[in-house]
Amino acid sequence: MSDHDALGALLDADRWIERVSFQRNHLAESDELEAVESVLRAEAAALRDAQAAAAPARVAYEEASERADRLQRRRRELETALAVSTASSRDLTAMQHELASVIVQSERDDEVALGMLAEVEERDAAIEALREVARENAARRESLRVTVDELRATLDDEIAVLRVTRATHASAVSGPLLDRYERARTRAGTSGASRVVEGRCDGCRIALAPLDADRVRALADNEFMECPSCGRLLLR
Ligand SMILES: [Zn+2]
Repeated sequence: MSDHDALGALLDADRWIERVSFQRNHLAESDELEAVESVLRAEAAALRDAQAAAAPARVAYEEASERADRLQRRRRELETALAVSTASSRDLTAMQHELASVIVQSERDDEVALGMLAEVEERDAAIEALREVARENAARRESLRVTVDELRATLDDEIAVLRVTRATHASAVSGPLLDRYERARTRAGTSGASRVVEGRCDGCRIALAPLDADRVRALADNEFMECPSCGRLLLR
């Protein structure tokens, strides 16, 4: 195999590795996973806000409901006392007055507590709805994580195989030429050589000056010049 062909095979191997590596690092599922994670962070914040806002409403309801219970107990006490009372008529009158006032207050407080309960239930329902959406997104995140891991593992295997092939091609290139290739690859990235296609270096896509294009054509199979723009070894 000529140096020219060996270098061409190495160039193709490096481009394959680059292509598969790019694919591995730019998975659509990986982008979606990032998007879902960002949505989940926003949902967690909304849930925290909703819970923080619901807490005072719950405390207010519990206090109102305790007050209503106290009045109910007092009402029963008074009703029992009046039923069995042997007290003086003045005490009875006082108790009847208190009972009447307790009944009014108790009914009013029951209504207040009921209104507060409605607010608490509404907020709880909103929190549960947020949780439900977050649960669905968390499940989606898990499934995406599994998919991304599997795809990456498959592509990593493929890259490993490509690297073995690449090593075979590299060993077919003579030492000093391989050094030039590797230096160019380090500088330019992806590959250390490129092909001239329609007067352009297909590594950096910049057109060669007509004189340079003529020089590349005139080179022997074991002679190479670098692309003036990207420094890669130019292949015909
Ligand atoms: Zn170039």
